[in-house]
Amino acid sequence: MTVAKSPTPVEPLQIAGAPKVGMVSLGCPKALVDSERILTKLRADGYAMSGDYAGADVVLVNTCGFLDSAKEESLAAIGEAIAENGRVIVTGCMGNEAEAIRARFPDVLAVTGAHQYEAVVEAVHEAAPAARGPFVDLVPPRNPDAIEDGGIKLTPRHYSYLKISEGCNHACSFCIIPQLRGPLSSRRIDAVLREAEKLVAAGTRELLVISQDTSAYGLDLGHAEYPWKGRQVRTHMTDLARELGALRTPEGIPPWVRLHYVYPYPHVEAVIPLMAEGLVTPYLDIPFQHAAPNVLRAMKRPANEARVLERLKAWRAICPDLAIRSSFVVGFPGETEADFQYLLDWLDEAQLDRVGAFRFEPVAGAAANTLPDAVPEAVKEERYARLMDKTEAISAARLAAKLGRTLPVIIDEVGEPDEDGDIGATGRSQADAPEIDGAVFLRDVPASLQPGAIVPVLIEDADAHDLFGVIASHAR
Ligand code: SF4
Repeated sequence: MTVAKSPTPVEPLQIAGAPKVGMVSLGCPKALVDSERILTKLRADGYAMSGDYAGADVVLVNTCGFLDSAKEESLAAIGEAIAENGRVIVTGCMGNEAEAIRARFPDVLAVTGAHQYEAVVEAVHEAAPAARGPFVDLVPPRNPDAIEDGGIKLTPRHYSYLKISEGCNHACSFCIIPQLRGPLSSRRIDAVLREAEKLVAAGTRELLVISQDTSAYGLDLGHAEYPWKGRQVRTHMTDLARELGALRTPEGIPPWVRLHYVYPYPHVEAVIPLMAEGLVTPYLDIPFQHAAPNVLRAMKRPANEARVLERLKAWRAICPDLAIRSSFVVGFPGETEADFQYLLDWLDEAQLDRVGAFRFEPVAGAAANTLPDAVPEAVKEERYARLMDKTEAISAARLAAKLGRTLPVIIDEVGEPDEDGDIGATGRSQADAPEIDGAVFLRDVPASLQPGAIVPVLIEDADAHDLFGVIASHAR
């Protein structure tokens, strides 16, 4: 997924003569958080930010190197930055392939890998030395490991990604993240909570918890306890969810807390009552990838258990509004028609609210590339289309069941008045994460409505992906 294809506009810091940095951020939300950290550190070092190529003294391209298609997109972004500006530093996942990048773009100034904040910041200092002086030297040093108050965010003000760990201890055969980002390395829970508290105080109404494996949070730290608000909290997913749910915005309302990349281990059950109580958003993003036991075994997936369907049913019994999103890969080597049919039948049972699907694509360096029985491209396409038909039908039925209900909706954008003076807005229900899920389209909103507001919306219509409605107090 591309987050930003041209330098992202960020608030300029007014320092006379400060060199300007442009940032092109590609890849997943985890990479976006890396971009935010790099820019936060650079701003603390006295750099200004540029929202276009022309104004930048140097352009950073934060790349994604997961799939070949993402690599192509990263190379295209590097090429565009070289053509438009010429002074380019490459970082992020694809930075691990420095030779390939240099072979294609010999003019890049530096190439650094994922999670190498110091190396990329140093490369910027070399390419465009920061002005030093009493004003800059008075800027207090910032912790690059956290987006502190005043840190740079690349998301809208009202939602923020909260990265709780880096790396992964698993060895899924199609994935090279552990090679790119190393083993699980969790942040201390008190540091994560401090960052979340500051984000919420600064206007964040929705926290999106991200990692490679949220269920494993704190395992590498032995789930160590730290003091927080006069009590001890463990570096553990359940404690994290509970404490995030206890935060309050300056208006006294709880922020939405959305958990991504959760594996369905038994201990996940402990957060479901928090969702039923309204402390945590009733939404789980669980990357199942497949359902057929043969394929899951070949994929070497964690939490690959026959009892997952039972678990989903038990969770929904506790929290009926729980929305489950997942992603699936079709055409994995060795996937037979029977395996694929198993997946379709499983989806009928699981009734997932939101599904993303991918056709299997070999990733350079992944173990799955050596597996026998590759699935022909035409078969992958055909299975992909069948999977999409199935999941769209499930999604349409689940959205249709919401007609007539009044649901909380967070507003992302408010439009301009049309010829009749009516104003529309776009928002999301608790079942919709930004960028990856559907939307709620509102009619006839008041001109005073602001992005970030959470309003009750009467649902009037639905299609396969989105809902349509009106603020409950404006219904007529
Ligand atoms: S859980 Fe598997 S797919 Fe996810 S990052 Fe770890 S190895 Fe990759």
